[in-house]
Amino acid sequence: MTSRVGRLRDGRTAPSHTSFAISSQADLRMPELPDIIVYLDALGSRVRGQVLKRLRVFSPFLLRTVEPPIEAAEGRVVVDLRRIGKRIVLCLDAGEQATGEPLFLVIHLMIAGRLQWLKTGAKSPGRIALAMFDFATGALALTEAGSRKRASLHLVRGEAGLAAHDPGGLEVLEADPAAFRAALRRENHTLKRALTDPRLFSGIGNAYSDEILHAAKLSPLQWTSHLSDDEMDRLFAAVRGKLEYWIAELRRQFSDRFPGPGEITAFRSGFAVHGRFGLPCPVCGTAVQRIRHAANETNYCPGCQTDGRILADRSLSRLLHEDWPRTVEELGSDHR
Ligand SMILES: [Zn+2]
Repeated sequence: MTSRVGRLRDGRTAPSHTSFAISSQADLRMPELPDIIVYLDALGSRVRGQVLKRLRVFSPFLLRTVEPPIEAAEGRVVVDLRRIGKRIVLCLDAGEQATGEPLFLVIHLMIAGRLQWLKTGAKSPGRIALAMFDFATGALALTEAGSRKRASLHLVRGEAGLAAHDPGGLEVLEADPAAFRAALRRENHTLKRALTDPRLFSGIGNAYSDEILHAAKLSPLQWTSHLSDDEMDRLFAAVRGKLEYWIAELRRQFSDRFPGPGEITAFRSGFAVHGRFGLPCPVCGTAVQRIRHAANETNYCPGCQTDGRILADRSLSRLLHEDWPRTVEELGSDHR
């Protein structure tokens, strides 16, 4: 054992298979609510009120709609920006041959999709570029690293078309405690599953759910049906506290510039447990543990969240087979 291995409350050290890598999650970086909000802030000041002069789609996998044709978006003014869950929406005006209905460009970054803001006339970022949106103020590049092309773009007509993209999760920052409890009680799931289910809660994914559960001192494996009112209130306070903190923090960080592609990440210095497997919990010093399931990894502190118990990785993975976000697609995307 090295001195870096944290001690559990009862004096046992963390198991010897503990390592200090965060690489197992390195490809799981789906932007979540705070990340999407800073993108919307950065985009708003650059494209709101601007004409979308040209829209070039480079990847055959990106565009998921055929009607209206993508050219219909060109020449329209971006009148507003919105967020639906983890999606970014450019709201376009009704255009010249007014059909009376606005159009909406719905961007889902999924895991590796990112935005870049470039100077007018700048070259596209090469092979990773999926699309370029040209404005008089500059160009928005949508990029995706890696070979799995998951990011998506939909062009939809009218509010009804847009509504079909809403998984329906509660907007936790606008909700009161009663609405939060109701959403938690709607189905019986592990807390990890419930928080990251976009049909139940909007915008929370793998990273922030770990941070929220740590702040609430609740196990990721606790069943929602077993939560006391007191625990629900603690969880609600943690959800709001963590999201509001990180939104403010990222806004401060990106107040004067567009976030770079490598800066929208699920690993932030300042996180207590997420991405910190094997490192000491900043609250109690216990080594942060993990539960792996399929492509996902949950990090938690045994000292703060599970009365010192280490949740056996393999057996829990089996136990959780039926109640875990099994794929990255399921973890926050297209429940429709
Ligand atoms: Zn702790």
